Amino acid sequence: MTVYQHILLAVDFSSQDSQVAQKARNLSLQTGARLSLIHVLDNIPMPDTPYGTVIPLDTKIPYPMLETERQKLNEIGDEFAINPDRRWLIWGEPRQEIIHIAEQEKIDLIVVGSRGRHGLALLLGSTANRVLYHAKCDVLTVRLQDD
Ligand code: AMP
Repeated sequence: MTVYQHILLAVDFSSQDSQVAQKARNLSLQTGARLSLIHVLDNIPMPDTPYGTVIPLDTKIPYPMLETERQKLNEIGDEFAINPDRRWLIWGEPRQEIIHIAEQEKIDLIVVGSRGRHGLALLLGSTANRVLYHAKCDVLTVRLQDD
């Protein structure tokens, strides 16, 4: 039995994603775990669509804005050799959807980035903190360095 069997890498499409992705990929190679990828769309309005909507990656998408997001996810997936069947683009609230997919896909390690915070941002908390607090599996937070 491996240490981890299924790792979920969460990316926010920032320039620091590759720092998180590299760690997740290395861990998956070292442990033999499968690697899945998720991005949650939380800043694109999608009227008449409930939270938690999975955006298909292999069929034509009727929203032009989503095409860019789909391309970004696929670029990361290709760069880090993540199976196309294990890439998730979901509309909703990041913490909620990351945890939902983690439970649905029987993930045993979630890998997220963590930025140093101060002031109001510290009080409001981060995605990493929220995932850490609510996840039922292990969570690795990768301290992000400025580019
Ligand atoms: P933040 O707390 O927003 O600074 O983000 C820290 C980390 O949380 C990122 O490096 C990602 O791993 C994850 N994250 C934040 N927003 C999203 C999102 N919309 N979809 C997937 N992961 C996210």
